[in-house]
Amino acid sequence: MSLRQHRNTYAEVNLQAIYHNVQAMKRQLKKETKMIAVVKANGYGHGAVQVAKTALQAGADYLAVALLEEALELREAGIDAPILVFGYVHPKDAQVAASNRFTLTVYHKEWLEEVKKNLLTEPLHIHMKIDTGMGRVGLRLEEEIQTFFDVLEGIENVFLTGVYTHFATADDMKMNMFEQQKETFEQLLYYVQKRATERLCVHTSNSAASIREPHDTYQAIRFGVAMYGLYPSEDIYNLHSIQLRRAFSLHSEIIHIKKVKKDSIISYGATYTARDDEWIATLPIGYADGWSRSLQGFHVLIDGKKCEIVGRICMDQMMIKVDQYYPIGTKATLIGEQKGTEIAIDEVAEYLGTINYEIPCMLTNRIPRRYKNR
Ligand SMILES: *Cc1c(COP(=O)(O)O)cnc(C)c1O
Repeated sequence: MSLRQHRNTYAEVNLQAIYHNVQAMKRQLKKETKMIAVVKANGYGHGAVQVAKTALQAGADYLAVALLEEALELREAGIDAPILVFGYVHPKDAQVAASNRFTLTVYHKEWLEEVKKNLLTEPLHIHMKIDTGMGRVGLRLEEEIQTFFDVLEGIENVFLTGVYTHFATADDMKMNMFEQQKETFEQLLYYVQKRATERLCVHTSNSAASIREPHDTYQAIRFGVAMYGLYPSEDIYNLHSIQLRRAFSLHSEIIHIKKVKKDSIISYGATYTARDDEWIATLPIGYADGWSRSLQGFHVLIDGKKCEIVGRICMDQMMIKVDQYYPIGTKATLIGEQKGTEIAIDEVAEYLGTINYEIPCMLTNRIPRRYKNR
């Protein structure tokens, strides 16, 4: 698709908010604690390159992504900062990572054995992942850690520079699994540090853990969702310990408007029947943009007023019920503020029965991201 922007449907990303959120978090950390800004999944849908540059300007020290492709996108954009890749990278791609100075996450001795077969032309840095209860990836036992080091010690040009784990319930103040994971990590970290040949960058805290315990973080935090101005959960919001600014908004405009007679049908499946003579407007956004069909019955803002989404959401368009005539081109806000009324990402998430993280991620790249820097 052409990258030119002709559409009147767009997301606006406020980079000043991201800058503010990085600094607000940094102010709470100990001076020596580093920040790894997490920009995986195209910066949680906000745009990885723009967010990464802003985070670095605001004082983040490292970047992290999930995929090798995402790391390459940052390098190709001229970003020179260290980049940690969280996700699995095939051993055959270790050379690509080494050449680009990416740090890879490793948790299999077999992975190391595979990499050993082809000598790398540049040093490769790796972080060891420990599974302390998330049950996703990582070494779980002391023996696994010991054999991992046995293999690692026989490989030239691969250097262990960090070790980390990930919490499953850091956003839930009632769960003591968080404390258990911290304890398990402490125990396993002892064996790792005993065999490490250099000082390791140890990191465990995601946004939730960083906000909960900004002074209990080892060497670095992995700052994700909160950087975008979203609270990881209601529990974390209720701590009232950090003021985050939302960075993302979503807008479109009225492209058609009509007054329909009572009992008129709107959209596929005839699921909506006008209860009266009603003003119905059409917006050029649909499920192919990631605006889910399940948002039927939710609302958007026109002139600061909440207007119901009526009838099935189509692939490229949807209809809303408005209170009066509005001219073609009238702005519609699907996420964000109009005249003091706001639709937050959290409300969209709640309507869909999901978490705020998913909402900006689900909006496809058919929606251009525009950047605002003030
Ligand atoms: C995505 C991710 C993070 C960031 O988590 P947030 O809750 O968004 O702060 C941290 N660590 C790992 C391993 C991740 O995959």
